[in-house]
Amino acid sequence: MLSGALAPPGAFASRGSRPDDRLEPICRGIHGLQGATINLESRVRVRFAPSPTGTLHIGSARTALFNFLCARHAGGDFVLRIDDTDAARSQDRHEGAILADLRWLGLDWDEGPDVGGPCAPYRQRERLDGYRAAADELLVGGLAYPCFCPQERLVELRAAALAAGRAPRYDGRCLGLAPREVERRLAGGEAAALRFRIPRGDIVVDDLIRGPVVVGADAVGDFIIVRSDGVAGYNFATVVDDRDMGITHVIRGDDHLTNTARQVLLFRALGAPVPGFAHHSMVLGTDGAKLSKRHGAAAVGDYRERGYLPQAIVNYLALLSWSHGDDEVLGMDRLVADFEIERLSLSPVMFDQAKLDWLDHEHIMALPAEVHERLFAERLPAGTPPPAAAALAAAFQSSLVAYGQAAALAAAVLQPPALPAALTAAPAAAQLTWFREQRAAAAAWLDPAAANDLIAAYRAWGKERGIGARDLLMPLRIALTGAEHGPVLPYVLAALERGDTLGRLDDVLAGSLAGVPTTTPGDTP
Ligand code: GLU
Repeated sequence: MLSGALAPPGAFASRGSRPDDRLEPICRGIHGLQGATINLESRVRVRFAPSPTGTLHIGSARTALFNFLCARHAGGDFVLRIDDTDAARSQDRHEGAILADLRWLGLDWDEGPDVGGPCAPYRQRERLDGYRAAADELLVGGLAYPCFCPQERLVELRAAALAAGRAPRYDGRCLGLAPREVERRLAGGEAAALRFRIPRGDIVVDDLIRGPVVVGADAVGDFIIVRSDGVAGYNFATVVDDRDMGITHVIRGDDHLTNTARQVLLFRALGAPVPGFAHHSMVLGTDGAKLSKRHGAAAVGDYRERGYLPQAIVNYLALLSWSHGDDEVLGMDRLVADFEIERLSLSPVMFDQAKLDWLDHEHIMALPAEVHERLFAERLPAGTPPPAAAALAAAFQSSLVAYGQAAALAAAVLQPPALPAALTAAPAAAQLTWFREQRAAAAAWLDPAAANDLIAAYRAWGKERGIGARDLLMPLRIALTGAEHGPVLPYVLAALERGDTLGRLDDVLAGSLAGVPTTTPGDTP
């Protein structure tokens, strides 16, 4: 119902333009809170405003990143606001997951629903009074009007416009109602939405990336700002909040351009300064369609689960978005230093999984050994002995794409191998027997250096007997891992406890060499 919007005239004083050269509270303090005093001329305030209706999409994370970088580059404020006016689709668990993903990416905010701030509250459903007051302002000023048209009529209007090849827009029927009729119907309790009366003429959005963008007057009709159930629509709630939170720049995807045209009109109607707008391009999948689940992972959480590093994702999203010269592996400090809204790419960008994989690997290689070891060990089954985890982490660092691979890579070493069908080196029994004895005499766990020494001794022993490296190492590798290829042998030895190593050698020596001729080293030519 519109009752809230019909509060006494003057319930909310008009804000007027913001003076450029003096200190002013950042927030209107709609709930009686007084904002901190800052110099508006020098302070950038940006916001990321996710709707908690699903997980954090990679494309939205990119929008959040730009806003974060903009704030940090300018020494301004990064505000996190939750757009949850759509009660049916908004869920607390989505909000929690979005916040967790943003934090994981390292995009910390200065104000938000969990940390508070001078413009609290930061959830739209807790800011409804502000929307009602602003709606009153427009109604009283004749810039908005009640609309009684039932849903069926609006659906018909829309269908007719589309059938005639026109953009759907409201035909203004309720604008022509006599004031007395409006009062009578409202007094009778008839449901009414509140529509914004748009001024005639094209709308120019001064975009910081694209320059002036003209949105034809025909593209935007008198639109609903408060629905008949009293809930403010997206465009209206956003403008009221951006105004009340002192937002200076709005950076978001170019799918919002038509919304921005509406929002520019609303800022003007409310007598509020229009923020700087920047509409960045979208992220597409390799087939040119908007990036989605069917291109593989599209949610930040998917990559988190698969063990990608947040710094690699952030790096990749930045790499996609503006030119960095020849540099590709970049940390957050560098991105903050380099960020300029105006440099963001105008054309859509294509998500390249292989490039992200490459970058993730580069960031893995740049990690301090103990951090890499911890991240690798976290992905191994509980109970994996620490020496084994450390050796495996070292073994696979040079080939790892993401930590989600760790468990499978480790299993290939830690689990007893299938019987070695591919044991090709004929004179293997003597080598393996010698090696078994040496291993039995050494410590329960070897570190990679000690394992390396053991392999060196094995090679020296073989060399004295004229056994080539391949005939030494391949049988050992196959006996221990069941495969001809894999991580460097000293790491395999360091990953296996003495009993495991001996057991695997015994298995091979006892039976699985059957069919493979075994000879003594002396027979080797
Ligand atoms: N909740 C909107 C979205 O997720 C916010 C858009 C905006 O930045 O205004 O698309």
